[in-house]
This record gives sequence, C-alpha cells and structure tokens, in this order.
Amino acid sequence: MTAEFSFAPRTVLPNGLGRTGVIHTPHGDIRTPAFIAVGTKATVKAVLPDSVAELGAQAVLANAYHLFLQPGSDIVDSAGGLGAFMNWPGPTFTDSGGFQVMSLGVGFKKVLAMDAAGLADDDVIADGKSRLAHVDDDGVTFTSHLNGDRHRFTPEVSMRIQHELGADIMFAFDECTTLMNTREYQERSLERTQAWAVRCLAEHGRLTQDRTGKPYQALFGVVQGAQYEDLRRRAAHDLAALEVDGHRFDGFGIGGALEKENLGTIVGWVCSELPVDKPRHLLGISEPDDFFAAIEAGADTFDCVMPSRVARNAAIYTRDGRFNVNTAANRRNFGPLEDGCDCYTCAHYTRAYLHHLFKAKEMLAATLATIHNERFTVRLVDDIRASIEDGRFAEFKAEALGRFYSSER
Ligand SMILES: [Zn+2]
Repeated sequence: MTAEFSFAPRTVLPNGLGRTGVIHTPHGDIRTPAFIAVGTKATVKAVLPDSVAELGAQAVLANAYHLFLQPGSDIVDSAGGLGAFMNWPGPTFTDSGGFQVMSLGVGFKKVLAMDAAGLADDDVIADGKSRLAHVDDDGVTFTSHLNGDRHRFTPEVSMRIQHELGADIMFAFDECTTLMNTREYQERSLERTQAWAVRCLAEHGRLTQDRTGKPYQALFGVVQGAQYEDLRRRAAHDLAALEVDGHRFDGFGIGGALEKENLGTIVGWVCSELPVDKPRHLLGISEPDDFFAAIEAGADTFDCVMPSRVARNAAIYTRDGRFNVNTAANRRNFGPLEDGCDCYTCAHYTRAYLHHLFKAKEMLAATLATIHNERFTVRLVDDIRASIEDGRFAEFKAEALGRFYSSER
C-alpha cells in the first residue's frame, strides 16, 4: 500500500467477512462492494464513456491479452495509458491476460469437450479443435486468435504489458484451470501460480522504480485452488504473506472456475485467510444470487461481460427477473424496460421502441439495452452496499432474490 493506493473497510456484516469500504486509487475512489464495467478492448461495447459514468459505474476493466494483440500495449502507453486512450477519467483495472491466453482466446467451452462434465481429465479437447496454448513452468506459448501468430506470455511479459497499459489496478499472471482438471494437476498448477506470483512482484517492483513520474499501479495476487478448501486456504495465506524486495500485493483476485452452489463457501475460505485491509476482486460473476453470496463471504469488487453481452441479444434484467424484449409481447408495449428504473434508456424509451430496434437490427438497440443492463447491475451492487451500511442486508437479500427468481419472464 502507498499513499496513492489504499483500502479502508467501513461497515462489517455480523459474520465478520462481508463488508463495505473505499478503495483509493490515483484516478479516484471506488466505494465497495462495486460492480466494475468491462471494457475488454478499451471500450465498453456500444456505450460512450460519458454514459458509463452516468449509469454509475465507478471503474472500467480492460483485458491485457486483447490490448497486447491489438493495438499493442506500447501504443496505449504512448497515448498516456488506458484511461487517457479511451477517455475514461476514473479508475481502471486490467486483468493479466492469463485467462484469455489459457482458454486459447476462444473460451474453454468451445475448445474443451462439452460432454466431459463429471470427468476428471487434464486434456479433454472437443473433436475438431486443437489446443492453441501450451503451459510450462516458465510461461505460456499461444497462437493469436486474430492472425495465428505465435506469442509467449510469462509473468514478466504480463507485468510489462500491464505497466504499459497503465491501469490503477493490475493482476498477477496466474494459471487458470478448469473444474475438470484432476486434484493432482490442481496441486501442480497452484505451485506454478505461486512461483509466478513471486516473479510478478519482483518485476512489478523493478518496473515501478523504472517508470518514475507515473501514478502508482497496484498489483493484486490471484488466488487459485479450484474447489479444494486446503488448496484455496493455503494459496490465500501464502499470497498474503508474500514479500519480494520489499513489495507485497496491494489486493487479491479470486480466480478459477467456481461451481455456483459452492461460490459463497469458496469465497469465504479465501477471504478468511486474507488481510482485512486489502481489497478482494472476484472475477466473472453477474447473477444477483452470486453477488449476494460473494459479498456476504467478503468479496469487494466484481466484473463480468454478461450484462452487456446478453443486452446485445435483447435479454433485459429487471428486479422481477430477466425477459427478452424481442418477443411479440413487447411489440406494442409502450412502458419502459423496467418500471421504476432510473437509467437513461428507461427515462426516454419504450419496450416497443427497443423491440423495433432489435427487429430492424439497428445499432442503437445494443447501446440502449446495454445502458439499462449495466445500470441494473451497478445499482444492485450499490443497493447491497447501502443495505450493509444500514444494517438490513439479510432483509434486502431475501426481498431482492425472492422477487428476481419468483417470476422469470
Ligand atoms: Zn433502465
């Protein structure tokens, strides 16, 4: 922690884990819990940065793998860093690129065999697909999904890319495993991720000293360990204790594939091992029940592509569940996407208009639907934060989840 980056917990739930707080960064504060908007390629797809701010997002998360391949992290560096490049004045995050590299740039499900559920296998590949990434103890060699070029990521390369991108919060390079990997593989992978964490901290320290005159960039260690309690606890404990050349992690990410039913349990194991005065980011969740479970177990910030991705397919989140505005029932519905929603879309447009835009394949459909879904998600997490501070978390959880899941339309 430095004067430029810090975390102060505020109100703590009776279970001692869930909490509110404030992350202080060189580009502004983030009140937590908070949902971080995803801008994978230095843009929140279809939405102007002014609208991202207006819908209440406090920070944006971009992806090191994508920006390394296109336009190149050196170009983002020359532009003055991610925030300046994309005209987003607030706090920024970059993830390490590890997940994208190891899921071969196309997502695990498209490459790993779909019928492998329940199997324990370290190399289940779908017919007709080839593995585009190879992991060894030093790093990962992979093939670009854009043009087939071969590249190599190591902890040092990921740190260099993320320093060039210049986000306020960066993540250590880690190996991502799947729930299909064997316990033996998870143990070996965890050793590798911990060794990479040491190298990331060392390189981060070196780059921080070299790059004087730039705002401090915080580095989060990533806790892996799949669904195993002993591995998760050991990983969290070891990362929290790690110090290399006087540098320690400023916060922590909770990574890896998580089964929905165990999400709160696993986050709880990890957070009970982590120091209370450092923030914790859970990668890749956006469903209302997952937010409540993760926040109750001690997670502070979240990111996920789903609210904007499904918006582009006309799927709309409301407090009363999710519906598709493309269906015929909305053709003559002149009400808003969601009654009582305070977003720009709901203030100015009807379901009938959105229905028309999607049917006509107009670009504005994606913009308006994304603004609503992102606002819904940001506001839900904001409301959870308020409920913790007002001492009514349990009541709000029961009310919000009862309403969302009782009437999926
Ligand atoms: Zn709305």
